[in-house]
Amino acid sequence: MVDGRPEAIHRGKFDSLLAKGYLDDDDGLSVTDAASHWSAPGTHEVAPGVYRIPLPLPEGPPAINVYAVVDGANVVLIDSGWATDDGARHLTEGLERIGFDPGLVSQFLITHWHTDHYSLAMDIRGRHGTPVSLGIGERNMVGWHAGEAASASESFGASAALSRAGAGHLANSLQAALQNSSSVAVELPDRWLEGSPRIVLQDRTLIGIPTPGHTNGHYSFWDPDAGLFFTGDHILPNITPWIGLESGPNRLPLSDYLASLLLVQTMPDAQLLPAHGPTTPSASQRARELIEHHHTRLNVTLEAVTSHPATALETAHRLRWTRREHRFADLAEPLQGYAVLEAVAHLDVLVHRGALHRTEVDGIALYSR
Ligand SMILES: [Zn+2]
Repeated sequence: MVDGRPEAIHRGKFDSLLAKGYLDDDDGLSVTDAASHWSAPGTHEVAPGVYRIPLPLPEGPPAINVYAVVDGANVVLIDSGWATDDGARHLTEGLERIGFDPGLVSQFLITHWHTDHYSLAMDIRGRHGTPVSLGIGERNMVGWHAGEAASASESFGASAALSRAGAGHLANSLQAALQNSSSVAVELPDRWLEGSPRIVLQDRTLIGIPTPGHTNGHYSFWDPDAGLFFTGDHILPNITPWIGLESGPNRLPLSDYLASLLLVQTMPDAQLLPAHGPTTPSASQRARELIEHHHTRLNVTLEAVTSHPATALETAHRLRWTRREHRFADLAEPLQGYAVLEAVAHLDVLVHRGALHRTEVDGIALYSR
């Protein structure tokens, strides 16, 4: 079955979507028939030799799409799923439907280090020795979670970023939420992807495309001949990933993200194969929509700042959140933390562009016109 129809998010999932770092549903919220929803279990052929296998998630979006790309007698998996019994069973069943099993996976290409994408690969590698590739830009975060002392000092600090935003009181609940989603042991991959590597399979060549923004080292995988773009969480059809969780003092994650979107928008168009949501015909079209979304958001953020210096927290209070226009005060606590970091990401880009001033008083950043 080839899928590609537009589908909507289950209403009941919306709050958990929000709770796990995905903002701005922009596809409405109508309840759809569960059997036709993109997250329904199955093995869906999206192109000759390429299959979408949605796996259930314990939290966050309703499922993650793992893509199985046939490579001769083996199969390559793009992203792996969350290491739960349920996830592992669905993956095994999904592969069996096309005549494979986890022992026949020749390699994992992982878009980014987040648990829903990376952790089941660790589990399968443990049993079968399957090599795992991940973008080099994930080194600090993965090293930090894997307990490497050298990475610890460089690790991003959501707490530090929130303090600087005048929102230190939100640090604990955000850390708890992040901790919760990282409870599966994180280990280093076998190979770090750098530049735009060509990944040569029997019948096709994939090209790794660095698309930082959602995380520092996010990769997408492009099949130029078949016109397929495996975009991970970089470009999602119905929702917008949070930007700003890996801020750090000298980074502009939103600038990275916008540059990565522009790259996809200007590349030859291809079918969008996202990690969450249905496949859609045009990656370029969706990239353009996301660029417009952030352009609007930058303007709204700019308008929320006056000549009177204000913190990112104060600015976040002046903005509305999600398509439903929630007031900041009405968001649950971990969400307020995500929202403040998202505000910081936009404010810092406005400073970088010369549209706003930023001063720092007692370690707290103040923004003004
Ligand atoms: Zn994800």
